[in-house]
Amino acid sequence: MKKEQKNTPIALWTGSDRVLDEILNSVTVILRSGGCSWNRCLMCQYRHERYHDLSTDELIIAMNEQLETLAASISEHNPSLVKIYTSGTFFDDLEVPPLVRERIASLCKGRVVTVECRGDYVDYQKVSAYRNLLLDESGKGGLIVAIGLETSSDPIREKCIDKGLSFEQYTAASADIRRAGGLVKTYLLFKPAYVTEREAYDDMVSSVKDILPYTDLISMNPCSVQRHTLVERLWRQGSYRPPYLWSVVKVLAEAPIHITCDPLGGGQKRGAHNCGTCDKMILDAIREYNLNGDQELIRSVLEISCDCKKEWDFVMEHEKPYSMPLTG
Ligand code: SF4
Ligand SMILES: [Zn+2]
Repeated sequence: MKKEQKNTPIALWTGSDRVLDEILNSVTVILRSGGCSWNRCLMCQYRHERYHDLSTDELIIAMNEQLETLAASISEHNPSLVKIYTSGTFFDDLEVPPLVRERIASLCKGRVVTVECRGDYVDYQKVSAYRNLLLDESGKGGLIVAIGLETSSDPIREKCIDKGLSFEQYTAASADIRRAGGLVKTYLLFKPAYVTEREAYDDMVSSVKDILPYTDLISMNPCSVQRHTLVERLWRQGSYRPPYLWSVVKVLAEAPIHITCDPLGGGQKRGAHNCGTCDKMILDAIREYNLNGDQELIRSVLEISCDCKKEWDFVMEHEKPYSMPLTG
């Protein structure tokens, strides 16, 4: 680490978020951390956004420097919600040292904080103690723990994502978070490697249904083609296409619960996209739906006609699954 270079967050922005029917003004920060200990998911580029070869003390200094930028933004914008992304697991001490977590809690006391954590690192004692740190004297504040389950199907999560997490571990983590007084947010991944458009759609429909008893909030992420990933290799050889926006909208329109969705790279070749003509209109509607939760609006998008809709219908009906030999 060069001493003269001050560490700043990878990104920081302000905005609004819908949380359980309430619109909260928010600050979102992406912090560079010690990096994801799992480091294997087939679509993930975030795992590369990490410090390398720092001692724990150096990591604490580097992360605390980034928190100065966060502190300034919190005092400027006074957000009700602070979303902390660490490209990994907030409660893994190797990624985010306890001293850094404590500093974040003192900056965010009295506010709702969202952190991301692998399900297998959720620990009741840690989550409960942390949530208590966030409450102010009047009991204001709270903790949302976001878990990247990606799908309720164990085979898809294992073979097509390499997530290293079982549905059983997820449900146990959900119970711990709720017992600790936190809210559970679940990330779903729309169309990982090796599944067809139809399989991906069906997988999201059944995943939403399966996780309803265990989650308070759902965020569905259409898979995008990120650099230096296996998904990118498959995409380059013509073996992967990110989902159609039609499929994304269909899931949102038919879901029994409000689902937020922020298609990374939406409308572009590397992100969820349609034909290029209807993409912007659909993306705008999805963004609006994130905030207003108006399912009628999102249903009306499905009624819009565009030439690419026939293509999507055809793909949904005729695309064949990726074939791997069953024997060696
Ligand atoms: S998706 Fe999450 S758990 Fe998987 S490699 Fe990326 S940061 Fe790690
Ligand atoms: Zn179109």
